Amino acid sequence: MKRKKLTIFAILTLVALILAFPSIKSFADSLKKVKAYQFWVNNELWFTVPEKEKLEILLDEYKNTYLEMIDEKANIKKVELVAETQIVEVEVHPDEIDTWEKAETMIYAKENEATVIEVQPGDNLWNLAKKHGLTLDELIALNLEIDPEKIYPGDKLIVKPFKPVLDVVIELENTVVETIPFKITQQKDNTMYKGEKKTLQEGVEGEKKVTYSIVMTNGYQTSLEVINEEILKEPVSAIIKVGTKTTVSRGGKVNYGVVQGSRISSSYGYRIHPITGKRTFHSGVDIAASYGNGVYAYSSGKVVEARYNGSYGNNIVIDHGNGLKTRYAHLSKISVKVGQRVETGQRIGLVGSSGASTGPHLHFEVIKNGQTKNPLNYI
Ligand SMILES: [Zn+2]
Repeated sequence: MKRKKLTIFAILTLVALILAFPSIKSFADSLKKVKAYQFWVNNELWFTVPEKEKLEILLDEYKNTYLEMIDEKANIKKVELVAETQIVEVEVHPDEIDTWEKAETMIYAKENEATVIEVQPGDNLWNLAKKHGLTLDELIALNLEIDPEKIYPGDKLIVKPFKPVLDVVIELENTVVETIPFKITQQKDNTMYKGEKKTLQEGVEGEKKVTYSIVMTNGYQTSLEVINEEILKEPVSAIIKVGTKTTVSRGGKVNYGVVQGSRISSSYGYRIHPITGKRTFHSGVDIAASYGNGVYAYSSGKVVEARYNGSYGNNIVIDHGNGLKTRYAHLSKISVKVGQRVETGQRIGLVGSSGASTGPHLHFEVIKNGQTKNPLNYI
């Protein structure tokens, strides 16, 4: 009797075990741990993923998105995350592993988007920088793609950069060829009238190789310095005979003939952007001058343009005959009309900052047979 009971008990136990087997199996499985990789940022666990190589590739891809704007020829010295990050190998339960989608979303997360504004007619970089609490250099640095000389209404400008959660710092060096402006030697001649000029020797720009060391954070330039300069070609000075015979004096520190200014703030010719490697062309010289200073006709001629013209702002073009024209841009006031005849040294307008201007200056252009020439050979 006792024996029979035991046998029944054993059979029942066995049946129970067989029935319970699948759930016991999954229970055992859940105790089993797998190898995985945690990603830590500044001592904070962000996520856990199953593969180390794939995570490293994902992080590299993220960092490399900030290289897109940079000149292909630049020497990239460093591409790094600012935060302290660690990839730690761990043993975890499978349900503790995050999806790759979550990892990617966290890596690419932004604290805020960039603030972009649209250029309105009459805007200039100088006023826009001021309005948004930036210096002119900061505004230009935020907008690598723009040519400060060619900004039109409708163009978009970044006034506040976007901020990712994971900051990326890039250090690079880039070497570009730049022009060296030539000097002008003036020979005074009292047999010629003041305002009259004769070029005895045309100036020729020199060339130099300039190496910049640049630091960029999240794609925006944070520092730029020249670390080496090598002269490839010395400039040749222009020799210009200028008349002194006159009673009219425009006074001032530096008389450029067409305006009384303080210095040439941007010279004529090509410039290669040290970060993007993009080539831009400056069709005239910019003479830094006070707002409201008089602007004078280079030589006698007929006014052929006197209007607001896109990035030139308020501008005047004078035809001097013999295929020679001069342009005066960014004026605050135009005092002449199309068709009007003007004499050498006649006041035609006032210095301003209209159009795509970075601040009060005169953009002066010399056009000979339809082609711009270096104005330094003419003033
Ligand atoms: Zn200019």
